[in-house]
Amino acid sequence: MNHTPAVSPWLWGSLFAQTLAAGADAQVARALREARLASLLAAARASPLYRERLQHAPVHGSDDLHALEPVAKAELMQRFDDWATDRAVTRSAVDRFLETSHDLADAFLGRYLVWTSSGTSGTPGIFVQDEGSLAAYEVLDALRLRSQTSYATLPLTAWSAGQRFAFVAATGGRFAGAVAITRLVRLHSAWSWLAPQISTFSVLTPLAQLAAELQQWQPTVLITYPSCAVALARLQLAGGLTLRLSELWLGGEQLSTGQRALLRRAFGCPLRNNYGASEFFTIACECEHERLHLNDDWLILEPVDRQLRPLPAGEPSHAVLLTHLANHVQPLLRYRLDDAVRFTGEACACGSRLPVIEVQGRSGHTLVMHDERDREVTLLPLALETAIEEGAQVTHFQLLCTAPDALELRLEPEVADPVAAFGRAQAALRAFLAGHGLGQVRIEHGRRPPLRERASGKLCRVRMAPREPDA
Ligand SMILES: [Zn+2]
Repeated sequence: MNHTPAVSPWLWGSLFAQTLAAGADAQVARALREARLASLLAAARASPLYRERLQHAPVHGSDDLHALEPVAKAELMQRFDDWATDRAVTRSAVDRFLETSHDLADAFLGRYLVWTSSGTSGTPGIFVQDEGSLAAYEVLDALRLRSQTSYATLPLTAWSAGQRFAFVAATGGRFAGAVAITRLVRLHSAWSWLAPQISTFSVLTPLAQLAAELQQWQPTVLITYPSCAVALARLQLAGGLTLRLSELWLGGEQLSTGQRALLRRAFGCPLRNNYGASEFFTIACECEHERLHLNDDWLILEPVDRQLRPLPAGEPSHAVLLTHLANHVQPLLRYRLDDAVRFTGEACACGSRLPVIEVQGRSGHTLVMHDERDREVTLLPLALETAIEEGAQVTHFQLLCTAPDALELRLEPEVADPVAAFGRAQAALRAFLAGHGLGQVRIEHGRRPPLRERASGKLCRVRMAPREPDA
């Protein structure tokens, strides 16, 4: 069996101490940020793509980072072989690895972890993580993700005996969350007395079946997306599910105040929420005052407008530019993420000095459709998105629910062959719907462009059709 990449205890310990100090002192954080940026820039010179960029704009520190031209996923994926600093990381090597590796947490080239994203912004991504990156994620998880008021709690306690984890996610692909969980289970199973009991469940499973599986597993910690947790919470409140959770970990979608209240009422346990991406696993962690704190010692996040110009604190951004200070194998310098983020510029009552941000992240509508016998069937937005993205390899779409038994699929103008793309998406959707007892639902090809949210201009991929037809 291929091994899974591990972090050396020495590296772990030293980053733990640094991260602990940076969390408490802004001066320490700034010094660490500059040192990490300098070392990232030095490493990036081994990447032909960044060497070109840095020749045009010499960057010495975070103060002149803005001189560097931003980069987007499409360009990195197109120039994949020019991107990595380790010249052995090529597209053909990764593709071969993805085809032949049987376990999500297998090491690539003996030292890296690989995950993919299904492409909410249109292009699927392949992300290779080195030991430094994995160490940073682990340390952030240990110190900040679980919003401990006391730093005495080491990560192992989260995995300690007696806890039963249920991870409900898109499990079909090699997604970051699934890879990270698989890796931790493999690392911890070496110490059988500490091995957590963990089970993964697919978010594409019909809700009633998912609930029955969870009921049987009886997790103490449930890890999932807000929309899925809310659907389960409704079942719990209606008496169709009796989970006794000690913690609920959420991520991947925006969490609203209403959802939060419902989850508390249903499960009566602490919620742990975070904001992350395939590109950086834990961008911000929520504190006990329910505010997201940016991990500004491990990443630089620049809020920008539509033209990618910097925005002052207080204004919601059109996108953000991410600089990942931990991963040297595939550098991300001023990498565009299409999330609307607002730096509040306010101090938080929890006492943390880490900047407070608000994120208008990924979210969609949970659809309630009717089967042939007019019974309600709940469909999660993320499950629908995944069914289309993975089943049809179509990413530029919007799915509108126009009636309890009708869906309209719209494609973005850049889709090259819309008739073929619709055909594939329709077939993937049909299979997914049939699995939910919704074989009779009509799927129409909408010819108008997808609707954008009025306030943010963002595309909500799965949503109810508006009452008034759009022009
Ligand atoms: Zn706080």
